[in-house]
Amino acid sequence: MSARILEGRSIAARIREDLTRRVAALAASGRTPGIAIVRFADTGPEVAYAQSLARAASAIGAAPRDVRLADDVHLTDAAAAIAALNADLAIAGIVVIYPVPAHLDPDVVGALVDPAKDVDGASPVNADRLARAEEAFVPATAVAVDEILRAYAIPVQDRRVVVVGRSKVVGEPTAALLANHGGLVTVAHSETADVAAETIQAEILVVAVGKPGLIGPSHVNPDAVVIDCGINVTDDGVVGDVDFDRVEPLVAAITPVPGGVGPVTTVMLLGQAVTAAERQVQQLSPTQD
Ligand code: NAP
Repeated sequence: MSARILEGRSIAARIREDLTRRVAALAASGRTPGIAIVRFADTGPEVAYAQSLARAASAIGAAPRDVRLADDVHLTDAAAAIAALNADLAIAGIVVIYPVPAHLDPDVVGALVDPAKDVDGASPVNADRLARAEEAFVPATAVAVDEILRAYAIPVQDRRVVVVGRSKVVGEPTAALLANHGGLVTVAHSETADVAAETIQAEILVVAVGKPGLIGPSHVNPDAVVIDCGINVTDDGVVGDVDFDRVEPLVAAITPVPGGVGPVTTVMLLGQAVTAAERQVQQLSPTQD
């Protein structure tokens, strides 16, 4: 038997079409959404990610702005740069590319972003809202996991969900979001004594660790829906955290890497930026519907 492949590119394409329409409507009223992409590095995966995000923003008609801060920037200067973006009416959303340099506390940097422009859910205000099941901007990978399940009509309510990984950018917000949607969520992490004993019970298994091949045949059951958030660059190319070739024949459904969570993540981030822009327009002209 082979699994249903939960393919992300077609979901992303459909959402991109919708975003392009919404951005055109904003542009027609003179409010093309500006998306500030704040980065610290000149090389490495962070730059590649920042560039691909900027291209994706341009492709829907939004206006990306590259904001390069020095690797050794003082917190005060980083705060001033982000405060200027918070105050800039042309900027609808602010995305800080992580990781930030070691001398900066990522939580402190996230807290500098106006929660109304925090379209990748880095601000503790949005994290608190998510934890309280209130409307929030949520880290985009978590939104992408949720969207893939929704797009393939896979219910979460009352399903046994296991999330492997508990980072603030992927695992923790994914667990919170799926719990908010009625999932019976367990989180496994590096201190979990027997990860397989947890994952084998999962009806929905989300993996966000960053270790190729971590999840193999002994971790899954035949009814499992497996969502692999891992992005690992290896000699064999980009792979996830799940041993796809050995797990795919054993489960009900699975996302590929690449082409699963990744492409959906980018459009969900842009979607939150477009939503932020629409809200900002509403606030500027509250009498208009
Ligand atoms: P991270 O900050 O390094 O967190 C990794 C998590 O995995 C931690 O919670 C850690 O537990 C846990 N862990 C480590 N070893 C484990 C093990 N042997 N068994 C179970 N849990 C273990 O990584 P991240 O930023 O969340 O990223 C995770 C993966 O997702 C990476 O491959 C990254 O490239 C990818 N990613 C994908 C997207 C996307 O759009 N698809 C976006 C962002 C990241 P402790 O908390 O106990 O240390």
